[in-house]
Amino acid sequence: QILRHSLFFCQAILYRKMGQENIVLQILALKLEDSEAAEQYCAEIGRDDAYIQLLDLYLDPKNGREPMFTAAVRLLHNHGKSLDPIQVLERLSSDMPLQLASDTILRMLRARVHHHRQGQIVHNLSRATNVDARLTRLEERSRHVQLTDESICDSCRARLGTKLFVMYPDDSVVCYRCYRNQGDSVSARGRNFRKDAIFKQSWLVSR
Ligand SMILES: [Zn+2]
Repeated sequence: QILRHSLFFCQAILYRKMGQENIVLQILALKLEDSEAAEQYCAEIGRDDAYIQLLDLYLDPKNGREPMFTAAVRLLHNHGKSLDPIQVLERLSSDMPLQLASDTILRMLRARVHHHRQGQIVHNLSRATNVDARLTRLEERSRHVQLTDESICDSCRARLGTKLFVMYPDDSVVCYRCYRNQGDSVSARGRNFRKDAIFKQSWLVSR
C-alpha cells in the first residue's frame, strides 16, 4: 500500500513537471484521495478554474466510481466564495445531497449579489442550473393564502371578495387590477424583486 502510494506521488511529481495539471489533480484527488493536497495544488496553479476542474473530478470520478460528495462539499466550503456560482451550479447533479452544500451556495450567491444586479443573476441562474425550475415553480404556485370575506387588496385596500387576485413572492396579495398597474417586479409592499430578489433555502435542496 505504501509502495503504491509513493508510486502515485512520483507520478504526480512527474506530471506536475510536465504541466499536466488535470492528471496531477486526478492522482491527488482520486488515487491518493488526498483532498488537502489536491486543494493545495489548485492554490499553486492559482486559477479559479483549477478548483472547478477538481470539483468536476469529485462529482464525476468516472470508471464507475461513486461521486465524492464529502470532498466536493469540503472544496465548496473552503473555496466556494471565489468560484463562479453559475459554473458551480451547472455541475451539481440532482443526486447530490445539496442540503450539505446549500449553505455554501447561498453564501456564494449573497457575496455575488453585491457585485451584480440580482435580477440578472437570477435570470442566468435559472437558465444555467440543474435545479429543477419547473418543480420550484410548481411548489411556489401551490403555496396558498387564506382569504376571508374581509380580505383586502394590499395596494388599493379594496375588498377582494370573489375577485381575481395575485400573490407576490413576499406573500402580499393584490387585486388583479392593481397587479396590472403594478406589474411583476414590485410587490404591494414595495419590494422590488429585480433589485431585491428572494432566495429560499428550499430552492437549493435536491428532491
Ligand atoms: Zn387593488
